[in-house]
Amino acid sequence: MSKDGPGQTLQDISYTVRVSRRARYARLKISPHEGLVIVVPEGFDRKLIPGIVESRRAWITKVRLSFDRRRVSGVSDTGAELPSSIDLAGIGESWRVSYRNEPRPGVSVRESGGEELVLAGAVHDHALCRSALEGWLKRRARAKLEPQLMRLASIHDFKVSAVSIRKQKSRWGSCSSRGTISLNLKLLFLPPLLVRYIMIHELCHTLHMNHSVRYWKSVARYDPDFAVHDREMRHAWRFVPAWVSRPD
Ligand SMILES: [Zn+2]
Repeated sequence: MSKDGPGQTLQDISYTVRVSRRARYARLKISPHEGLVIVVPEGFDRKLIPGIVESRRAWITKVRLSFDRRRVSGVSDTGAELPSSIDLAGIGESWRVSYRNEPRPGVSVRESGGEELVLAGAVHDHALCRSALEGWLKRRARAKLEPQLMRLASIHDFKVSAVSIRKQKSRWGSCSSRGTISLNLKLLFLPPLLVRYIMIHELCHTLHMNHSVRYWKSVARYDPDFAVHDREMRHAWRFVPAWVSRPD
């Protein structure tokens, strides 16, 4: 693991030094939550740090200004800042996110080691960061939610012709008459029992394309607590962080 040193200040730039066993070279990270963090490998000569910070002054100022502008414009009131961590309760994962400025267009997302996500590129552009993160969420949902749905389908003998993962505003899932089930990627943020309930809910629509008494009977067969779960779903949007919910 890593340990933070005491806060330091270089003239007007304050920062924290973090020693990381995994780091091979010094790098800078800025997030709204942590501010500027200098990550250095073990045994790194700390006398070199002020020079590194000074050489990146223009970038640091630019990123900080963009954070300040959001605060001033009230954007932060919606809590829509970029995340420094992402908790995917639905699949039991918790990712740390860092942002690395690189002089190139676009923003890429890379998974690094155990549940660490690195965004690199034009990270001062928050819209680019958000859409890169959403693309990653979609891949995560495809890797985890889709197989989970197919497992449930095969255990209980439901016929599913295709699964699609989407980012929807007002629906958690849907089922077409052809047996295509869509899942909202925001399910990743829900408690696992509610994720399972939505899956059962949609799977039962492959049998009944309505909410009839017979439909709910089949739901009850696979999720005896469905009434409680259905009620909890009314307030489930609160599990989704603002940076995901924010309209594009
Ligand atoms: Zn339904």
